Amino acid sequence: MARLGRTASDKLLTEALSLMPGGVSSPVRAFDAVGSKPFFVKEASGATITDVDGNSYIDFVQSWGAMLFGHAHPAIVEAVAAAAGKGTSFGTPSELEVELARAVVGMVPNIDKIRFVNSGTEAGMTAVRLARGATGRSKVLKFAGCYHGHLDSLLVEAGSGVATLGIPGTLGVTEGTTRDTLVAPYNDLDALAAAIDPWTDDLAAILVEPVAANMGLVLPNDDFLPGLRRIADERGALLVFDEVITGFRLGPGGAQERFGVDADIVLLGKVLGGGLPCGGVAARAELLDHLAPVGPVYQAGTLSGNPVAMAAGIANMNLIAQDPDLYDRLQQTARDLVRGLVDAADSAQVPMVAAAIGGLAGFFFSNDEIVDLAGATASNADAYGRFFRGMLAHGIYLPPSRFEALFVSAAHTPEHIDRVVDSASRVFATP
Ligand SMILES: *Cc1c(COP(=O)(O)O)cnc(C)c1O
Repeated sequence: MARLGRTASDKLLTEALSLMPGGVSSPVRAFDAVGSKPFFVKEASGATITDVDGNSYIDFVQSWGAMLFGHAHPAIVEAVAAAAGKGTSFGTPSELEVELARAVVGMVPNIDKIRFVNSGTEAGMTAVRLARGATGRSKVLKFAGCYHGHLDSLLVEAGSGVATLGIPGTLGVTEGTTRDTLVAPYNDLDALAAAIDPWTDDLAAILVEPVAANMGLVLPNDDFLPGLRRIADERGALLVFDEVITGFRLGPGGAQERFGVDADIVLLGKVLGGGLPCGGVAARAELLDHLAPVGPVYQAGTLSGNPVAMAAGIANMNLIAQDPDLYDRLQQTARDLVRGLVDAADSAQVPMVAAAIGGLAGFFFSNDEIVDLAGATASNADAYGRFFRGMLAHGIYLPPSRFEALFVSAAHTPEHIDRVVDSASRVFATP
């Protein structure tokens, strides 16, 4: 396929670099980890994203998973426009919050209430404070390679951009702040037990991405999530499922429903806002009511629950509710994608392992199955960078880091997948 060049993107990048660190508003967007330079987006629709030079790409980033129905879905655009015309933020309750809260509580198991925030990071911050406030304990345990937003206390051994850039998680964060954060390897219940053993009476919460999607895609072993539930119960700690990615992506009820494991606190974001900034912390009423104004755990937000984000979220939830086959289709697409990529790699004798679940896909250049951050880090970074650049030249936009998952949307068709697999074969065949 003919490429149109990237003059306009490069020109914007030059100016952006003089105005913003790395020229970007979030680090992984800079493409450093894949030896490339970002394209600047003009517009996007469905599965396709188009840059300012007129190049179009099949997009597997989908705003890092926020777009379950692809870009600029007409129902969401319409809802946003209608809401915006009536005022974009009131700093006062509106009916739309009640509507979205009702929809979320109806879909996600095990929760009675939700506090809306503006991002997944805010949800993570609030969950840590809530868990500590509700239990009167200090320590929180997270898993290496899981990402819960860029809050100080949880950047320790974080995935996503922290893993991508190889930054020690603590630059700019005091030792005091991270002293109460414990870390264990993903999928390792014995290491978890050892990490929390000295703090049995002071463990407030175990936080986990029930499917890890910020160190590439790493699935939980069969006994991992049930084991977390059991250990949390034994220690009187809360189990926090960070479903910012898995929520409404593995199924309407997220990972809790998918794996049949109940969490005490559920974090939502990304899909929740239908592409607008929105996060949420959800739990049973007796737990969530520890938040102000009912309880003493303070949390607030000027733009929280704003009608534009709520309207996008509601439209998105309606699309989910109207489409009983949605998650089967997403999972089929994700499976076809990774099966095609692995077959293409096999044919070229390139070692690749891959996984798919719900609307999530991921692959590593590796001979070994990946179960944790150490394995993900040991995968072949150069091969990923080469593959990323080759695929981009074929008009396919993969995550610009091997530590991110691929996001499949309802707008990705079998024809898109065929094109991707065909391109992968060509890229592998190019020396
Ligand atoms: C993206 C993400 C976050 C942070 O959400 P932001 O909206 O980027 O602040 C938290 N947890 C997980 C699992 C995420 O993938």
